[in-house]
Amino acid sequence: MRVLLVEDEEKLAALVAQGLTERGDVVGVVGTGTQALSSARGGEYDVILLDVMLPDLDGFSVCQRLRAERVWTPVLMLTARTAVADRIAGLDSGADDYLAKPFAFQELLARMRALARRGPVPRPTELEVGDLRLDPSARRVWRGSTELSLSTREFTLLESLMRRPDQVLTREQLLGLAWGDNSGVASNVVDVYVRYLRAKIDRPFSVDTPQTVRGVGYRLTADSS
Ligand code: CA
Repeated sequence: MRVLLVEDEEKLAALVAQGLTERGDVVGVVGTGTQALSSARGGEYDVILLDVMLPDLDGFSVCQRLRAERVWTPVLMLTARTAVADRIAGLDSGADDYLAKPFAFQELLARMRALARRGPVPRPTELEVGDLRLDPSARRVWRGSTELSLSTREFTLLESLMRRPDQVLTREQLLGLAWGDNSGVASNVVDVYVRYLRAKIDRPFSVDTPQTVRGVGYRLTADSS
């Protein structure tokens, strides 16, 4: 397979590249985030092995930028950091998996193979429906270029709708998604919160996006007419 190895520690890079080349893989090696971006944009790699600590951009930023540009090549983060927060940052930035250094070469191979088998999976780090944009990890929402301020519950309800654009969701489904299955909350609370949402995400912009489907529930569409 074709592997892009992004690693600034030359000894480690040489060792991994040699191991992969001996197996018959085609390996490109770069040592900075900037080089990683330009090589990965070509998109002809089956997997990217991406170190977190690089001399310029860090691996999280590289991954985030690639995903923002809709480059979906599987990314395996190589990290000396093992803190939970860093692993979450890696996955939130759009990486597919991570491996803590020092790692066993056999484990690297196994994880690489698993990712390459899966192939490029579009996994936007931000949700978009029309000009509504939501970043689940940063918990921010925009309509066009205007950032919106939502309460926690409003945000969760909107995220539930945006993850299922154009689908009709019943009040019960929305209740389960945004409040939890055993919340004991009455389903008309959903109506109340959809009203709150409309007041924030639609009315100031003269659009009507969470549409009422009479007798059933709600549907979020890009079409605002
Ligand atoms: Ca490094």
